[in-house]
Amino acid sequence: MSSILTVGTVAFDAIETPFGKTDRIVGGAATYISLAASYFSKPINVVSVVGDDFPQEALDNLVHHGADISGIQVKKGEKTFFWSGKYHNDMNTRDTLATELNVLADFNPVLPEAYKACDFLMLGNLTPAVQQSVMDQIPVRPKLVVMDTMNFWMDIAMDELKAAIARIDVLTINDAEARQLSGEYSLVKAAQKILTMGPKYLVVKKGEHGALLFNKESVFFAPALPLEEVFDPTGAGDSFAGGFIGYLASTRDVSFENMKRAIIFGSAMASFCVEKFGTERLQNLTHKEIDERVQDFIDLVQFDISLVNN
Ligand code: AMP
Repeated sequence: MSSILTVGTVAFDAIETPFGKTDRIVGGAATYISLAASYFSKPINVVSVVGDDFPQEALDNLVHHGADISGIQVKKGEKTFFWSGKYHNDMNTRDTLATELNVLADFNPVLPEAYKACDFLMLGNLTPAVQQSVMDQIPVRPKLVVMDTMNFWMDIAMDELKAAIARIDVLTINDAEARQLSGEYSLVKAAQKILTMGPKYLVVKKGEHGALLFNKESVFFAPALPLEEVFDPTGAGDSFAGGFIGYLASTRDVSFENMKRAIIFGSAMASFCVEKFGTERLQNLTHKEIDERVQDFIDLVQFDISLVNN
């Protein structure tokens, strides 16, 4: 087992999908990442910030799942980061209705001493300057640095974002973000360009159409599981990231071959996440359920072909 350090939002979300609407519920990239990763590797050392409006039970719940929360600052008299989004009928695209940075606006992360010996670093979606500051505080480069980000930061902090991307191993973004970051429409060309910006690997998430893993030489595709019901895609990308890094940390193998497996575990965690609103489905999974879900992925893409001319 290896230590995982993650930084990201711990947030309030208000979500609207064709199936319903939630008032402020607990979400945030670091919340989803920690919950998903906790099924593979513990502890998960979390760096984040919340206001004093954030419920203690939600922090206790992270601890219950194996998170160390000594790196989560609680700011007195301030408000927690708030995000609100509305999904279109296809459930694959969404509009952001509100992003209130609140405590995030001047967040200065301070890593507890015990977090600094970190093997696997998961930079969840957050201000790129904060992602960089976390990297700056780790004296020995981790075995693997994975980073997630989104169009919001490309729109308002592209230079800082590129500086952060230059220092990482794996970037996980969605297809629209890969196009925005590279200026290329073809995802193959986009990947080639992004792989010159620093990362050795690129994961392009395509929602219900699965995910692509690129390095300079190869590409691998993992499908998304066709699910009968998708209630709320919020956090799918973060659950994917948590499952991905959790599996890599549990196996301590960062080869391309093992990343293919990690992508399947990540996709399995994302498929659970979308089955209920918010983090609900990630709260009480069993290892048996996860194994069965991974088996569904194997069955989905397994086929036998004998090529006559080979
Ligand atoms: P995902 O659906 O995987 O993209 O992640 C959704 C989560 O990201 C929600 O729980 C939000 O609280 C969080 N989030 C939304 N916008 C941002 C942002 N600009 N920076 C950091 N986290 C965000």
